[in-house]
Amino acid sequence: MSLILPQTLGNLFRRCQRALLPGSCLLCGGAADDQTGSALLCPPCHNDLPALPPNCCPQCGEATALGERCGACLLNPPHFTRVIARWRYDFPIDRLIHALKYGHRTLVARWLGEQMALALPESEHWLIPLPLHTERLRQRGFNQALEIARSIKRQRRLPLLADCLQRVRPTAPQAGLDQRQRQQNVRGAFACNTDLAGRPVILVDDVMTTGATVGECARILAQHGAGPITVAVAARALKM
Ligand SMILES: [Zn+2]
Ligand SMILES: [Zn+2]
Repeated sequence: MSLILPQTLGNLFRRCQRALLPGSCLLCGGAADDQTGSALLCPPCHNDLPALPPNCCPQCGEATALGERCGACLLNPPHFTRVIARWRYDFPIDRLIHALKYGHRTLVARWLGEQMALALPESEHWLIPLPLHTERLRQRGFNQALEIARSIKRQRRLPLLADCLQRVRPTAPQAGLDQRQRQQNVRGAFACNTDLAGRPVILVDDVMTTGATVGECARILAQHGAGPITVAVAARALKM
């Protein structure tokens, strides 16, 4: 069992107190760079956020040795054409996303959206957030993917279809399941109520792990005519 020294706890408490002050970095309590009005981090913490590897699969964003298409995409091509991720899902971006989802720090969603908007294509796309089931929405009070999509919409003035994709049944958490189980878990969990014929869309979420959930959403959107389908996430969890 590890012991947390009272001194460490005190330091942590002071850092949290500082981090809650407006204009202070959410990670270290230093002065945040507030040029955009909602920046949450100081420049050093911002520069230290985990970068994506230089080479990755052009379709799903998984790291590959030379930037070639990965085996999973070759074997079973997803319905989305590419993934645009801002960071690798690792410390401390995981803590920031946790603060958004479970600490209700919705300013984090605004900041993530601003950061993601910088990397999105110039052309006109419809933004579609990954939906939560109504039960989960009631528990959490908000859908983090929708809040991120709203922020992207403000930055890029793209149309946002907040309700066209719905989660029609609750699903067990994906954590702990293998890829095949994840795909089965989300199969048939989504429905679309809009004709998207010929529409390029950007499917927005906070984190992509194996891509089973966004893959199923993309399948439903493609059935309704959407294409090409781009996935935009704040962070991509990678195997290597
Ligand atoms: Zn900082
Ligand atoms: Zn791939």
